[in-house]
Amino acid sequence: MKKLTVPSTTTDSGILAPSDEYSLTVGPTGPIVLHDHYLVQKMQHFNRERVPERVVHAKGSGAHGFFEVTDDVRWFTKASFLAKVGKRTPVFARFSAVAGEQGYPDTLRDPRGFALKFYTDQGNFDLVGNNTPVFFMRDPSKFQDFIHSQKRLPDTGLRSNDMQWDYWTLSPESAHQVTILMSDRGTPRSWRHMNGFGSHTFSCVNDGGERYWVKYHFKTAQGIENFTASEAMAMAGEDPDFHRRDLSEAIARREAPEWRLEMQVMPFAEAADYRFNPFDLTKVWPHQDYPLIPVGRLVLDRNPANFFAEVEQAGFSPANLVPGTGLSPDRVLMARIFSYHDTHLHRIGPNYEQLPINAPKVPVHSYNKEGAMTYHHADAQPVYAPNSYGGPVADGAAGVDLGWSVEGQEIGRYAYDLHREDDDFGQAGTLVRDVLSAADRAHLVSNVVGHASDQVSSPVQDQVVAYWTNVDAELGREIGSGLGRPLPSPVANAVASHQR
Ligand code: NDP
Repeated sequence: MKKLTVPSTTTDSGILAPSDEYSLTVGPTGPIVLHDHYLVQKMQHFNRERVPERVVHAKGSGAHGFFEVTDDVRWFTKASFLAKVGKRTPVFARFSAVAGEQGYPDTLRDPRGFALKFYTDQGNFDLVGNNTPVFFMRDPSKFQDFIHSQKRLPDTGLRSNDMQWDYWTLSPESAHQVTILMSDRGTPRSWRHMNGFGSHTFSCVNDGGERYWVKYHFKTAQGIENFTASEAMAMAGEDPDFHRRDLSEAIARREAPEWRLEMQVMPFAEAADYRFNPFDLTKVWPHQDYPLIPVGRLVLDRNPANFFAEVEQAGFSPANLVPGTGLSPDRVLMARIFSYHDTHLHRIGPNYEQLPINAPKVPVHSYNKEGAMTYHHADAQPVYAPNSYGGPVADGAAGVDLGWSVEGQEIGRYAYDLHREDDDFGQAGTLVRDVLSAADRAHLVSNVVGHASDQVSSPVQDQVVAYWTNVDAELGREIGSGLGRPLPSPVANAVASHQR
């Protein structure tokens, strides 16, 4: 900590405090008196130091930096922050683990959050992504159950691998994400050494009104580096804050971490008969179909000065989309539009967007007013619309929401449309067979066997073997033998012949 010139202590109202050491008492042996406001204020404030921790992504850290456009992408978006090569936009990034609470070790197996707030000249643009291009589900109604399965048992308060595998194996659409999670990418060496993904399909529109579907990929310039399962476990004991420390110390050493933003862009009409449903969050768009297009670079070069104010009170929301960017029919994305803002209203308060870390760098002219901790006010501005007194008026042209057509469809509860190559296991199998090296694949097997051996019941272990056999028959055989529970041969053979 820095040595400061020593000012006098004050109360929070700025009045000189009488003592840092002694409370107000009736003589040296008498009781403390209630009108020791300085002591009472210290105790009261201390009792209120915490806001509720995030239900997911509770443990994390962040840094400030900038995004710089490196390539002309005006052909697919009119977003102002992407409009000119060389243009820089300030950014705040927060990285996190998903399931653990505040204080949980950083390095244990989990997806990692990769949340970005771009303070653009058209308002804030938030990309609230992960270090994986896919997720465990394609319908948001499963999210709460999924998270409960990754958290703690209601009676003992313990985490449970049995519960995790039971949920995953009964939810086959999770297979692609679980394959990535169980590979060594589930234990990144540091936040600097992992990629980030918007994961969902989003949309963009150019100046001419042409719409595109897009995916955002942030590729680490530091290179991918992972811990093995045992290295990650050892580091959890050695330094539970390893990832937080690594980011902060790298920036302090002026080794600003950097990522290249590369995007996949699909012409709007191609979505209808693309071989995979392009809005399914459990699928990627193979690069051979939609190659990565360079867009810009993200650099993180400044540590927060106040961890609580800048990291804990940061509130990201995928609803923050600027003109030229938009949503897609991905149902999980649509649900997140509601849920992120809602959780910040609960966790931080109704005016969380007035805090400096969340406030846009452009003026706010909204008719929302008052509520706890209101800080900004609108002088004599009218508080209702329409009005005759010069209050803000919506700019219909700028505020057009990007949409798509749903003509002739009826409200109901539907599975996703299956496109011709859609299934739950295919892309996970491609990853195992065509992308992973022999060493990666061997680690995948030992990671799964290690995880599913740890207090997982025999029936759930059988589900585990069947699940991995569906991803890849040989992989399933290896995992079955590692767990000592091989699948009965007729079942394994039937799956193998299906995969051929
Ligand atoms: P390519 O064969 O063109 O490239 C393989 C991709 O896999 C690269 O992006 C690479 O990322 C990534 N990768 C390598 N090891 C792992 C791992 N252990 N976990 C997750 N990703 C890894 O890919 P295709 O587009 O043809 O897709 C094949 C498979 O690759 C997919 O089924 C999917 O599982 C995976 N993948 C695809 C992505 C996409 O958007 N198309 C993105 C990420 C993964 P890197 O550059 O970081 O090494």
